Amino acid sequence: MTEKVYRLGPGCTVDDVAEGNIYLGKVQGFATFGMFVQLNDKTKGLLHKSNIRTERKEHDDILVLINQIRPNGNLDLREINLPEGGYTTELVAKRLVISRLSDLPEKLGRNITVEAEVVQIKQTSGPTIFTVCDDSGTEGAAAFTEAGVRSYPEVNLGDIVRIYGESNKRNNQIQIEVSGMTVLKGAEADAVRAKINAALDARSEPPEIEPLIDSGILRALWPEMRKLAKIVRRAVLTQQPIILRHHADADGICAAVSVETAVLQFIRETGGDPDMDNFLFRRSPSKAPFYEIEDVTRDLDMLLKDNARFGQKFPLILLMDNGSTEEDMPSYKMTEVYGLNVVVADHHHPDETIDKYLLAHVNPYHVGGDFGVTAGMLGTEIARLIFPEVEDKILHFPAVAGVADRSEAPELQDYLALIEGKYTIDDCRDMALALDYEQYWLRFMDGREIVKDILNISGNPGRHERLVTLLVSEANAALEDQITTMMPHVKEQQLFSGAKLFLADVEMFAHRFTFPPPGKSSGEVHDLLCKKYADDPIVTLGLGPDFAVIRSRGVQMNIPQMVRSMRDEMPGAGISGGGHLVVGSIKFVEGMRSEVISRMIEKISEFSVQ
Ligand code: MN
Repeated sequence: MTEKVYRLGPGCTVDDVAEGNIYLGKVQGFATFGMFVQLNDKTKGLLHKSNIRTERKEHDDILVLINQIRPNGNLDLREINLPEGGYTTELVAKRLVISRLSDLPEKLGRNITVEAEVVQIKQTSGPTIFTVCDDSGTEGAAAFTEAGVRSYPEVNLGDIVRIYGESNKRNNQIQIEVSGMTVLKGAEADAVRAKINAALDARSEPPEIEPLIDSGILRALWPEMRKLAKIVRRAVLTQQPIILRHHADADGICAAVSVETAVLQFIRETGGDPDMDNFLFRRSPSKAPFYEIEDVTRDLDMLLKDNARFGQKFPLILLMDNGSTEEDMPSYKMTEVYGLNVVVADHHHPDETIDKYLLAHVNPYHVGGDFGVTAGMLGTEIARLIFPEVEDKILHFPAVAGVADRSEAPELQDYLALIEGKYTIDDCRDMALALDYEQYWLRFMDGREIVKDILNISGNPGRHERLVTLLVSEANAALEDQITTMMPHVKEQQLFSGAKLFLADVEMFAHRFTFPPPGKSSGEVHDLLCKKYADDPIVTLGLGPDFAVIRSRGVQMNIPQMVRSMRDEMPGAGISGGGHLVVGSIKFVEGMRSEVISRMIEKISEFSVQ
């Protein structure tokens, strides 16, 4: 019969050993009456010299039998000699009392064991900090081997681990001082993971609230908005970073800043480190109303470096006021290669082909609505579903967004009614213009704190007032100058459909590389013409060297479809573009400019007037 030899696992104490059993130990030191043998880093016993069989030196492995466990916990040992291969060894696992992370504040200074998922590994110049998450919450665990040296290199991001240590407090935050950590495998890990997942699922569930206004479209979109909000909440709860990409206009900014406000407060609420804001949440404006290759490339570059350097998880990509169209496809193919999760809240006319790349896609067109329910409206409602306490702060965002995007949806009136007495429609218009103007100079920067002042959520209403007044007067002066310059050169054509077509050259007869950019300049010209010809259907083309901006009123346009058919019909023109049904843009090669413009005019005259 082969003897059984036990090996005392990490965390085990005298409570886990039994008299008469044989254990594998290590010689720890000598005394006049015998030697001390260590069974693990917590447990040792005395091998009296009368029970020593072999000459030993420090650190030698040794087999010992437990003669007696004394009432004070001291162990009396006897050396056993077994031939090599004459025994099997078995690991003694600690009889575990698993603490939940949320219970650690009550167990300060005590030894605890937790089972959790590793959601981040950060090497500091001192200890290695493992951020771990269980079914109750998220905490940091500090393990130290040597300054700046990675502890437990066998532990990877996403592993389920059992941590032995002491519950402590550091900088007012709970931290586990790790004394041992093992990676759980197989069924044991699966059970812990299932428990964490079930709890996370419940905690990610958005609150049971209703949309701010009574809207059939919002009601129909509600389940998808809840789904998106749940994905965002789950990302926060699991320390998954979030990259929020949004169209760099006032509507897109309102959408993104409402979600930014909610996410940052939710991170704090759930015990996230506020200094980690920039790691856990990043808002990036995109110049185009879609996720450009340039954007996805920047994002990938950064996230892959963060992953390599800081053990950061791959982020959730949230696209707002962009992401719905075929133009996003090349970027989605990139996100797919890296297995990134992407969610979209947009009001551009959606192409079904992109849905297979998305975990959630909120779009009013899916439920019979249109772009009049703007991204800023969707964003504000989603922000409430992420963290409802932000509601008061961002209540005016949907109105600012709706005014900015010239929404004619009844929803805008309802959102304006919500803020009656606090902001007028002119206040909203001013904030929208100030956002557009300031974002022009911010370019790719998010301008987080400036934007807070413009939207009056920085807690400094005086500064908000002065800043918006200044920006609006600067923007208006620039707009007026641009329009005065452009208008004498605008050419008019009468289309067979009965619509008036206006051609405004934003290349030769407009200021370039300053505010207002071509799109905004064309929009202003269009608005002026709409006022002048209040009863006529109107299409305005802002013509650049290799692009055109299209605005229309009272014509049943479908710009994405028009651009697609022109692309098929004119293979040598290098056509791309799209946008909303009645507002959009087209790009082409400069050498085909006149051909493209005349074909476009033909196409536009085929759309019937309303
Ligand atoms: Mn928009």
